[in-house]
Amino acid sequence: MESHLEHRHKVGVADAVLLEDFTNQDAFINNLEKRFNKDVIYTYIGPVLVSVNPYKELDIYSKADVKSYERKNFFEVPPHVFAITDTAYRSLREENREQCILISGESGSGKTEASKKVLQYISEVTERKGEIEKVKDKLINSNPILEAFGNAKTNRNVNSSRFGKFMDVQFNFEGNPVGGVILNYLLEKSRVISQAPGERNFHIFYQLLKGSSDETLFRLSLNRNLETYKYLSNRKSVDNDINDVSGYTEVKKALSTLEFSSDNQNEIFDIIGAILHLGNVSFSEVEGKAVILKPDLVDLTARLLQCDPEKLKLSLTRRTIETISDDVKTPLNKELAYYARDALSKAVYDRLFTWLVKKINNSLAPSNPRKTAVVGILDIYGFEILQRNSFEQMCINFCNEKLQQLFIDLTLRSEQEEYEREGIHWEHIAYFDNKIICDLIEEKHRGLIAFMDEECLRPGDPNDKTLLAKLDKQLSYHNHYIGHAKADVQLQKVMGRDEFRLIHYAGAVTYNINTFIEKNNDLLYRDLRESMCSSSNGIIRSVFLQQEQQSKKRPETAVTQFKNSLNNLMVILRDKEPSYIRCIKPNDAQRPSFFDSEIVRNQVTYLGLMENLRVRRAGFAYRRTYELFLQRYKCLCKDTWPNFRGNAKDGVQHLVCALGYEAEEYQMGKTKIFIRHPQTLFRTEDAFQEK
Ligand code: ATP
Ligand code: MG
Repeated sequence: MESHLEHRHKVGVADAVLLEDFTNQDAFINNLEKRFNKDVIYTYIGPVLVSVNPYKELDIYSKADVKSYERKNFFEVPPHVFAITDTAYRSLREENREQCILISGESGSGKTEASKKVLQYISEVTERKGEIEKVKDKLINSNPILEAFGNAKTNRNVNSSRFGKFMDVQFNFEGNPVGGVILNYLLEKSRVISQAPGERNFHIFYQLLKGSSDETLFRLSLNRNLETYKYLSNRKSVDNDINDVSGYTEVKKALSTLEFSSDNQNEIFDIIGAILHLGNVSFSEVEGKAVILKPDLVDLTARLLQCDPEKLKLSLTRRTIETISDDVKTPLNKELAYYARDALSKAVYDRLFTWLVKKINNSLAPSNPRKTAVVGILDIYGFEILQRNSFEQMCINFCNEKLQQLFIDLTLRSEQEEYEREGIHWEHIAYFDNKIICDLIEEKHRGLIAFMDEECLRPGDPNDKTLLAKLDKQLSYHNHYIGHAKADVQLQKVMGRDEFRLIHYAGAVTYNINTFIEKNNDLLYRDLRESMCSSSNGIIRSVFLQQEQQSKKRPETAVTQFKNSLNNLMVILRDKEPSYIRCIKPNDAQRPSFFDSEIVRNQVTYLGLMENLRVRRAGFAYRRTYELFLQRYKCLCKDTWPNFRGNAKDGVQHLVCALGYEAEEYQMGKTKIFIRHPQTLFRTEDAFQEK
């Protein structure tokens, strides 16, 4: 195998801290490009792995590759996702420190693929005996299920994850996987009812129609012609590149592996079928009241959802409003009936997804719930700037602000703590602390979320306009909030009156306020909820009843739920040792062998990589315990070879003198040697390799 050093000489530098001008973004990007052109997709910034999506299969993930990373020291082998995983895994085993691997990057950059490689590595380096093998099989098979229901073809990625995911792999004290837990975040449920031109609905709809047996389709009263279904009617999307037939087989197999009963499997596909039929229900209007046009479609839906068809019909065309004295039933007009129909489809699908995750978790729960240690893997949407940014982008970008906060906290704080602990002298370096933006968004009573909720929940007629007016009024004092009135002339030209702008740490994003209230309220009329609660489909009944019981009061708004789940995630991540994988896509065309520097430049900015590099360079790039350092390099000095009599620290002192380290190049801490520049270490490693 090629060593780290050969890579370094042949293809740019393996660690960007080695770049001569580490403040130069062009040099950084050139280095990535040089390596990418030679199919070297991984590069480090210190301990952070930067991965550039090759958009082609590379022969770097074989069993032999796994072997070559097993129990190797990080800097002795070329950068690789396996190296990151091995380091995390060993730290878990040997130092008993819980780990998390945080994968970020924009859509199509390779996050999900990277997370699968992490799992592959763990699976291959751990034991292969009965129960453990079964757990691994389940962990790996949770992916096809979640991808079928949670991924879709978008214009940026044929297999785009439309939800955030955090997966804990639980290990027993022998270091073998014994279980797992998955947390899911904010599924893009609006995709169920409509898709942008060129995009598709979630894979599962096509998989069912193309891949299932004639009998299944007959049972569901479906046919194979995709054109039949309004929710899939976006036929501009060519999907030859997706094999839905084999996708279906894989999902079925995975469902069995994860112990979904055949009843459950039928119920799942009943629900998918029901949604397709529901999407075809249409309405006309007589005297302002919606009338169902093809009632037999509602009958079909009701049959599959196992609820009362007449009740469902009523709940699609009227709503009950609670007043102090009475329940008042008012008819819906056509527009509201469509709204109700789509709200039901979205709610049913969203809850089905959550139910799937819960069910997977049941199956993944360790059979022996003794204390386990975990490696968590976070595969979550990256910072997003679209042509038009809405509520979803705001949530996603808020999530990235929180992750950046965590990064600052964990890396900079832990770095400082270690220097202090070891008695090392170091200079502080300035970096942008994005806490101010997190506060702008989430601060109690005076953050953006608080005002949004206040507006959503106030009596009267809250709407997007009044919401924007409130935000503009309350937040205009803040440096990171720009309303239309506050914008300068230049900006006003491009910013609509229905927009506001947040200056995120990664860049400015203009959000359009339309639909914010509706998406945040996320309401399903009571009549529809009641209709679902009476369902005999086990899944439907359980997810709707549960919700009903939990929230006698008004349920939390969407953004508040999201905020709370993010803050929970932060708590989980905060006491783990983090590893970072930063994914970059090389171009917008999903094409191999094409490196578009401008596209990459944006991502380098959003990911904050240059700052990352600067911070890394300011401190000490490498540190190792005296024992490990001496153990590896003792052959390079006659005083320490073959054995040094005395303590390891003294041994290392002899060693570095013999190696000619300059005084400013290193410091001796209490238990570790700190080396400022990686060159020094590489020089030593070179000498070692030559020996
Ligand atoms: P999203 O945010 O949309 O979910 P993502 O970052 O998860 O995007 P992936 O789905 O992991 O992106 O990757 C997109 C595609 O890029 C994959 O389907 C695959 O074709 C290709 N790809 C990603 N990583 C690799 C890799 N390491 N080797 C080969 N191909 C890759
Ligand atoms: Mg993904």
